[in-house]
Amino acid sequence: MPNRIPVVEKILSANDRLAAENRARFDAAGVFAINIMASPGAGKTSLIEKTVAALKDRLRIGMINGDIATSFDADRAAAAGAAAVQINTGGDCHLDAVMLQSALPQLDLSALDLVIVENVGNLVCPAEFALGTHKSILVASIPEGDDKPYKYPGMYRGVDAVVINKIDLLPYVPFRLDFFKKGIEALNPGVTQFELSCRTGEGLEPWLNWLLAQA
Ligand code: MG
Ligand code: ZN
Repeated sequence: MPNRIPVVEKILSANDRLAAENRARFDAAGVFAINIMASPGAGKTSLIEKTVAALKDRLRIGMINGDIATSFDADRAAAAGAAAVQINTGGDCHLDAVMLQSALPQLDLSALDLVIVENVGNLVCPAEFALGTHKSILVASIPEGDDKPYKYPGMYRGVDAVVINKIDLLPYVPFRLDFFKKGIEALNPGVTQFELSCRTGEGLEPWLNWLLAQA
């Protein structure tokens, strides 16, 4: 398929242009924006819930949730105290800059300090599509297995931080933390990492402090 690569490149460069526009809107409003990516079930929404609940008195937080079909996750973020907007991707397996752009008018950016974008649960293509957020965070979790950095290198390579969630399950699941971290280190040397459990609350403090320092 000789035409395939140029077409993909064109789509990605159009996406990058829109991502730059999104970034400019965040910057003009003084908003810090993050893109949270993970496989389904890793705990993106749980992390957002805990983060909003812990920081809502210090930061005005908005949340944009990309979901294929439901609004459960946006509802959870709203219940935790965020201004939440739902993007129904209509079956698409990732968010892109144009979807984010179409959602932004639903948030009053001038009244927010932090915008958290929850990407579609998927470990393959979300990393390919810049959204215009300032930082990308990958949430991994113990039950997914310790081979994920080796199997999905594209997702680990470009992110600014990796959150390893569900560490309370380490005693019950075969998971070599050293092997996992070695895989991350090879792809993204020195990347910021957090080990935590949204369920028990263990390890959340360093993540919250990092986010506060960024925002
Ligand atoms: Mg979710
Ligand atoms: Zn996709």
